[in-house]
Amino acid sequence: MPDVTHEEWLRRARSLRLTGAHHIDGADEGGAGVGFDTVSPRDGRVLAQVADGGTAEVDAAVAAARRAFDTGPWPRLAPAERGRVLVRIAELLQERRDELALTVSLEMGKPITDAHGIELPAVVNTFRWYGQLADKLTDESPHTASNALALVTREPAGVVGAVVPWNFPLTLAGWKVAPALAAGCAVVLKPSEHSPLSALLLGRIATEAGLPPGVLNVVSGTGPVTGQALGLHPDVDVLAFTGSTCVGRHFLRYAADSNLKRVRLELGGKSPHIILPDTPDLERAAATAAWGIFFNQGEMCSAPSRLLVHSSIADRVVDSVVRRARALRTGDPLDPATEMGPLVGEAHLRRVEGHVGAGIADGARLLTGGSRTLVDTGGCYLEPTVFDQVNPRMRLAREEIFGPVLSVLTFHDLDEAVRLANDTEYGLAAGLWTSDLTTAHRVSRALRAGTVWVNCYEEGDMSVPFGGVKQSGDGRAKSAHALDDYTELKTTWIQL
Ligand code: NAP
Ligand code: MG
Repeated sequence: MPDVTHEEWLRRARSLRLTGAHHIDGADEGGAGVGFDTVSPRDGRVLAQVADGGTAEVDAAVAAARRAFDTGPWPRLAPAERGRVLVRIAELLQERRDELALTVSLEMGKPITDAHGIELPAVVNTFRWYGQLADKLTDESPHTASNALALVTREPAGVVGAVVPWNFPLTLAGWKVAPALAAGCAVVLKPSEHSPLSALLLGRIATEAGLPPGVLNVVSGTGPVTGQALGLHPDVDVLAFTGSTCVGRHFLRYAADSNLKRVRLELGGKSPHIILPDTPDLERAAATAAWGIFFNQGEMCSAPSRLLVHSSIADRVVDSVVRRARALRTGDPLDPATEMGPLVGEAHLRRVEGHVGAGIADGARLLTGGSRTLVDTGGCYLEPTVFDQVNPRMRLAREEIFGPVLSVLTFHDLDEAVRLANDTEYGLAAGLWTSDLTTAHRVSRALRAGTVWVNCYEEGDMSVPFGGVKQSGDGRAKSAHALDDYTELKTTWIQL
């Protein structure tokens, strides 16, 4: 981001025109005067009024998607044509990255440096990647007896409902919308009530890019009303959900109580980050542990929230992590120097404070942080927080916090490390530091997690899938595997 100053971002924020209308069937609907206020966690001020989708709006959006899928051009286009539109969406997102990054930063509190430098490139790349993939897929024709021809084809699964959270509002929407569109599906997206503005902008940009009306609809609203209406809708074929494990259970119930739609879940985590004594660079491991838990205010499904460190190196690693926590620049997300912004809202901040209180009550040792800060801004800021002397039965070791709170546990040998790492109902991700290749492979095999990072954390690119096992869900984002969620296999057997 070439030299955009804090003052310049503030000026741009003041002149930003935020529109909170639904995007249904290629047009904006509702908004002014009939919705709810969306508040910025940076200062508690109202950003915009946003349309509040009820059953009628969800019905209209699903009907538009149904028409687009059943009789519209999109699923019938040559895949290369669909790909061109997705690449065009990527180009428009790139052109409007300043406005989009600012919107994300204002609505959910992510530092502008990360919104602009990480989230925007990620969503642009997601649309471009699936756009380029669209015409490179092939079907199967298995060997059969000579009097038959068998075809196994992938067909678009139909109307997709996508319900996403607020922590990476554009990237997580893109991880669902882009592969679903590449596959030829039509989508109804429901963003979180905390981050509707960037998603509504995405809907409009997609229409501008040439996506036919009804192929991507965005309905804003609350989870228990708008999200539930989508989950229960009889004309939705696939429901792709990213969010908490608790709400994931609701979606399985909605499917059971309606049309048995396919449900794909990307849920919470309590990811272990193991540091072995043979780690090649302990300072780098400690820096990564601190960055991992404080990046995006700790509001990361894959956050390495349990640091498992060998007892022989624990003091050194913990000292370094605490030093880094204290040095972190918490502040206005629109300041390019800010490293950690506010939590998403007052209710969430109170929940995270509750976890801090539980940690103290359970007997863990609070090493740094734990309190609100920058209170006079009116925003929702919490100090970077580190606990040690956490034992595996404590709530700090078991419950997802989704905030900048690190729990340190120690172990004495590799078996104990693996046992502790797997002692969780979640299975999203894990990290491991070692200089031994055999240990890396052995431990990776033993860890029940969708992703294992060795000598790094949160690394990767679009070629690798991301998703969980156990109660972290079963969906897979990124890579060609994501298309499995949005396609059906059909067998055609022709007797010759
Ligand atoms: P959440 O409360 O589960 O909400 C996620 C989405 O579901 C939001 O759009 C929400 O709408 C909606 N929703 C809430 N209650 C609902 C209900 N009863 N019926 C239907 N929809 C409902 O999660 P969150 O607090 O936004 O996000 C944090 C969670 O997401 C964490 O658990 C985190 O680990 C998980 N997450 C997972 C991944 C992954 O890839 N595995 C990525 C990011 C986050 P409203 O917000 O408008 O209520
Ligand atoms: Mg919620």
